[in-house]
Amino acid sequence: MTDERPPVRLRPEIAALPAYRQGRTAASDGFKLSSNENPFDPLTGILEAIAAAVDINRYPDATARELREKLAPRFGVGVDEVHVGAGSVSLLSQFINAAAGPGDEVLYSWRSFEAYPGLVTVSGARSVTVPNLPDGRHDLPAMAAAVTDRTRVVLVCSPNNPTGGVVTAEEFSAFMAAVPADLLVLLDEAYAEFVRDDAAVEGHALVGMYPNLVILRTFSKAWGLAGLRLGYAIGPERVLDAARAAAIPLSVTGPAQAAGAAALDHEAELVARVEHIVARRTEVRDALLEAGLPVMESQGNFVWLPLAADAEFAADVLNDHGLVTRAFPGDGVRVSIGEAESVAKLKQAAVDIVENLP
Ligand code: PMP
Repeated sequence: MTDERPPVRLRPEIAALPAYRQGRTAASDGFKLSSNENPFDPLTGILEAIAAAVDINRYPDATARELREKLAPRFGVGVDEVHVGAGSVSLLSQFINAAAGPGDEVLYSWRSFEAYPGLVTVSGARSVTVPNLPDGRHDLPAMAAAVTDRTRVVLVCSPNNPTGGVVTAEEFSAFMAAVPADLLVLLDEAYAEFVRDDAAVEGHALVGMYPNLVILRTFSKAWGLAGLRLGYAIGPERVLDAARAAAIPLSVTGPAQAAGAAALDHEAELVARVEHIVARRTEVRDALLEAGLPVMESQGNFVWLPLAADAEFAADVLNDHGLVTRAFPGDGVRVSIGEAESVAKLKQAAVDIVENLP
C-alpha cells in the first residue's frame, strides 16, 4: 500500500548527506587497522579512575573544570583558554557552527579528514577545497589564495589524515601572515603526539600568538581513549566561548573526564606506547616500500598508500589476510599502525598485492 501522505520536510542538503562512514571491525583472528585507533589495552590506572567516577545518576561537570585545570598549565594558558568536547569531532562542529553559516565558506585541503565535508554542510556553509600537494601535504599558499570575503573558517590538518604529511612551522607562519586576522583558523592536531619531524608546526608553541588560531587535540589516538569521546581545544577565550555556546550541553561524560585526567597522570607509560607505534610506523613503511608498494612519508599513527585505481583491490587483498584497512576508491588505502602481530601479516599481504596487481 502506498502512503499518500507527504514526506516530512527535511533540509535537502542534509537528507542527501551520507552518514559518517566508520572503519569496519575485523574478524576475531584479524586486525582492525581502519580507524587509526590505539592498539594497546587500557592501563589499569585509567580503568580504576573510570570505575571511581561512579555518580552516574548525576550530570557531569558541564565545563570539565578539573580536566581543564590539568591541561592548561601543560600549554601555559589559562583555564578558560581550554575547552573540552566529546571528541575533537564535536569541537570541529562547534567551531564551524560558531563561525560559519548559510552563505559562508569553509576552506580546507582535500583529501583530508572525512568528517569535514559533512560538518560544513550541517552548518549551512559551503565547502571550498584545495587539492593536497603530490606528497600529500597541504598547499598552504594555494589555500591562502583561495580565501575570499565569504571564508569564515580554515581547517588545517597536520599531520593530515589520511595522507600523513605535516605542515611546516615556516609554512604555517607564512600562512597566518597571509590570511585576515579575523578569519578563524582551526589547526587540527589529532595526531600531534606521533610527529617526529622537527620542521613540523607545533600548535602549542603558537598558542597566544594569534587571536584567530585554535588548536584541536584529542585523547582518542595517542592517549587511547577513543571509546570515551574526549578532545580539547586551546585558543583565545572569546573564540572558545562561542564554541561553548554552540556545544550540545553536558555531552562530555564524567567517566570520560576522569579517564582524561588519569591519562595525564600516566603520561610516561602512554608516551612509551607512542614510541612503539612510531617505531612500528617506520618498520611498516619500509616493509611496504620494499615489497614494491607506494607509501607516503607519514607523521601519524597510519600510513597512506596512494594506489589510485588499485586501492580497492589492495584493500581486498589486505582483508583476505585478516587486515581491515580503509580504502578510498580511486585514491588510496590508509593502514593504521596497530598490534605488533599485524606487521608480519602486512608484509605478507604487501607481497601478495604486488604479485597480483590487475
Ligand atoms: N581530526 C582528525 C584529523 C581525525 O583523524 C579524527 C579522528 N579520526 C578526529 C579529528 C576526531 O577524533 P575524535 O573525535 O575521536 O577526537
